[in-house]
Amino acid sequence: MCADQLDPEIIKRDFPIFKRRIYGKPLIYLDNAATTQKPRQVIEAIREFYENYNANVHRGVYRLSVEATEAYENARAKVARFINAKDSEIIFTRNTTEALNLIAYSWGLCNLKRGDRILLTEMEHHSNIVPWQLIAKHTGAVIDYIPFNEEGLLVEEEVDKLLNLGPKIVSITHASNVLGTINNVKEIVEKAHKVGAITVVDAAQSVPHMPVHVKEIGCDFLAFSGHKALGPLGVGVLYGKRDLLEEMNPFLGGGDMISRVWLSGAEWNELPWKFEAGTSSVADAIGLGAAIDYLGSIGMDKVRAHEVKLTDYALRRLSEIPDIKIYGPRDLEKRGAVLSFNIAGIHPHDLASILDEEGIAIRAGHHCAQPLVTKLGVEATARASFYIYNSESDVDALVEGLYKARRIFKL
Ligand code: PMP
Repeated sequence: MCADQLDPEIIKRDFPIFKRRIYGKPLIYLDNAATTQKPRQVIEAIREFYENYNANVHRGVYRLSVEATEAYENARAKVARFINAKDSEIIFTRNTTEALNLIAYSWGLCNLKRGDRILLTEMEHHSNIVPWQLIAKHTGAVIDYIPFNEEGLLVEEEVDKLLNLGPKIVSITHASNVLGTINNVKEIVEKAHKVGAITVVDAAQSVPHMPVHVKEIGCDFLAFSGHKALGPLGVGVLYGKRDLLEEMNPFLGGGDMISRVWLSGAEWNELPWKFEAGTSSVADAIGLGAAIDYLGSIGMDKVRAHEVKLTDYALRRLSEIPDIKIYGPRDLEKRGAVLSFNIAGIHPHDLASILDEEGIAIRAGHHCAQPLVTKLGVEATARASFYIYNSESDVDALVEGLYKARRIFKL
């Protein structure tokens, strides 16, 4: 192991959950695309908040509230630095889903009208499809989808063709949670801006796994979830360009998001608080700050390099299994550490159950991307997704478990 590579066995020691035994066997957690495990540093930061300075933020002049506010705003600053944005451009939401709904409602309702076009891709998670379907129903706008090809890559000619129809908004995933595909969002954003579109990047599967800098991508909005990046469940992030956020109406109304209220109306708070109605998930935001410190101390380049190496190994090992179909690109530069597959003759749910008996957690189903999975010609896939604490021995255990499934099914 050289110093420029991360050591998953050392990292694992920071995660209390790996002390767990599942049916007497060590836990092998391969469902990181759904949510990641949490290091002690994140758990401690949350515990510390509740034990030492639990108070509501932005309201109190007393010591505890001041400390809570400072820690909350400090977490925002960490997120901003992590993705190369300004603090005022970072809005805490519950998750990616809420962040995407915020854009759809706050931007979409005011800016889209009958016949306007919304451009998505066929590989979106439901959270980047359904909000737009709802807004399209409200406004009369229509949705186009960029198709993907056999390899699981977006069809470039179709990108150009559909952009030439002049969409008002283009919302695309950076990395697919089923195919693993990493889309060239920088290029699509550039092209979309040339035709006058607003751009949104769903970075739920990219921010936790590789360096992501919003200024470099150039997108207008970007969303991700803390819980997929070692952070707690319950906090997500929306990045938005300041001028657009200024123009938009608030998503939710209530406390904290106003500067003044009269019986006849209200004035909005400054950014980013204009979009943070009600009491925020303060402890969770602080926990996300600790998660970002943890990832920062490793370095996102190293995270990505580890995942590329592990994906390479996993692709090679899984390919040995007879009658396996692995989805998504083979080019490691164009994919992340999410591997979806099917073994002929065994339902993915059966695969997941058999692996569970070995202490191995994988996901089976449509992964909240039903249009994508339908296009693959199946109802479900099995999916193993890796992170910083996974190693080649986890892949070996997965492969062993899949052979066991074949034996059980007498294949
Ligand atoms: N987009 C992508 C690409 C995802 O993988 C997910 C989660 N699976 C989401 C959006 C939604 O994330 P959340 O459930 O945290 O809102």
